[in-house]
Amino acid sequence: IVEVRNIRKEYQTESGTLQVLKGVNTDIRKGEVVSIMGPSGSGKSTLLGILGTLDTPTSGQLMIDGDEVTGLTESQLTEYRAKKIGFVFQAYNLISTMTAKENVMLSLMSAKGKSNSKMEQKALELLDLVGMKERCNHLPGQLSGGQQQRVAIVRALANHPSIIIADEPTGNLDSTTGKLILDLICSLRDKVGTTFVVATHDPNVAEVSDRVLHILDGQIQEN
Ligand code: ATP
Ligand code: MG
Repeated sequence: IVEVRNIRKEYQTESGTLQVLKGVNTDIRKGEVVSIMGPSGSGKSTLLGILGTLDTPTSGQLMIDGDEVTGLTESQLTEYRAKKIGFVFQAYNLISTMTAKENVMLSLMSAKGKSNSKMEQKALELLDLVGMKERCNHLPGQLSGGQQQRVAIVRALANHPSIIIADEPTGNLDSTTGKLILDLICSLRDKVGTTFVVATHDPNVAEVSDRVLHILDGQIQEN
């Protein structure tokens, strides 16, 4: 569902042009968990930003579900992103003044035509899926890191995106909690068929992935 063709990304810096991605090619299939590994600064977050349409490549093509994404205008992209892509970050990025349930509902709101009670019901279903229904009225500050990350993951899932992009989703968690999040990602893949692309330093993530892409010297080496 995701086709990456010869993507290059350069940044202009004081010391000249920095080539981060030097022609990246890969296909990501539906229902796969793909992890992206590589040293710090190798371009993992850069590649995720491009896959998530948050950033545009210097050259190359990105297709998602057969749609050519490179070349869309900023406002088209915003709409496309809301429909097709879910995001999970290292720092859970929940809205601190809203409860777990409200955070999930917020993401449901971008899909129009749902009544408030329907959205509430859907949010509770999603939270139940990750064992967080009992804590639906807690604020993020009243939840542990792992619990916040579970909320962040179902929030990303709420609009049935084609793909969930996760940048170091276990980076702030102890290894036990990190494993719980990984089990969750795998069970969502198995039950819901969600596709995940995960940038990580965590070997446990790589272990449960269907494929690992190593970024080395601006290119992907797969194994
Ligand atoms: P980490 O494992 O530390 O998160 P990463 O693999 O995610 O690293 P990136 O964040 O993709 O690495 O950064 C790749 C390179 O691009 C780095 O050398 C970084 O300094 C550079 N870079 C990233 N964003 C910009 C920017 N907006 N302007 C200039 N250089 C940038
Ligand atoms: Mg990074």
